[in-house]
Amino acid sequence: MENEQISIHDFDVSLICELHIGLERQGPGSPEMTIKALSFLDNLDKISRVADLGCGTGGQTMILAQNINGNITGVDFFPDFINIFNDNAKKFNLQDRVNGIVGLMENLPFQKEEFDLIWSEGAIANIGFEKALNYWKDFLKTDGYIAVTYESWFTDKRPAEIEKFWVDAVPEINTIGHNISIMQKAGYHFVAAFTLPEKCWTDNYFIPREAAQKALLKKYPGNKTVEAFVACMQHEAKLYSKYKQYYGYVFYIGKKIKMV
Ligand code: SAH
Repeated sequence: MENEQISIHDFDVSLICELHIGLERQGPGSPEMTIKALSFLDNLDKISRVADLGCGTGGQTMILAQNINGNITGVDFFPDFINIFNDNAKKFNLQDRVNGIVGLMENLPFQKEEFDLIWSEGAIANIGFEKALNYWKDFLKTDGYIAVTYESWFTDKRPAEIEKFWVDAVPEINTIGHNISIMQKAGYHFVAAFTLPEKCWTDNYFIPREAAQKALLKKYPGNKTVEAFVACMQHEAKLYSKYKQYYGYVFYIGKKIKMV
């Protein structure tokens, strides 16, 4: 198929934004997995400052806010996502401690050692796992936690078709063991890693996204770019159902330690 050669990088970000804006989440995940990741933190009651980087419209941020007491700042580079994020904060009556700002994950407007917790679901690959872990660490207090989801290989070897697809999408993609060692090298104590269940991809992401894809095609009838974009999304979902035993999102949780 011709469209199998087209990669997500070939499309305008505004199209990606338009597809995802009405969805509760902009990537795989679930409230249960956000809460599970939180369960590995040993100082939940002491958390006062949290950053959620690549927050999207805040699906996971509102769950976080309902389970911890601190103030959360969401950062995303799409202003439209941030508008919805702040509307959602109001909807959940969380506006006093949840605030979204437009910004870049790789150029944060924060003070050094400002945060007790840095969260990021489905976004870290946009700036690179290793680079982000190193850069974000400066904004964490000693003993502060980082919790991120990141695309990871489950096996050492993969069929060529899926290897090619993901190396193109996320050139740094690697195995769980390798990613844990990257986290340790970046100066974190490794706390936990667990795999997101399949439902986080299917029920919570691909299925609602499929409905949004249909709506997009209806909105732009005969538009070749939109058709190619939707075909690219469908291809991604098809590959997932075919190769899901080889890869998925993994939650990585680490604690910034003081080097002595
Ligand atoms: N955390 C949300 C969204 C994940 S999608 C969820 O799990 O539902 C990835 C998000 O990262 C998108 O909202 C995208 O706009 C944002 N993003 C990508 N690159 C970024 C960058 N360099 N700086 C800030 N946000 C970025």
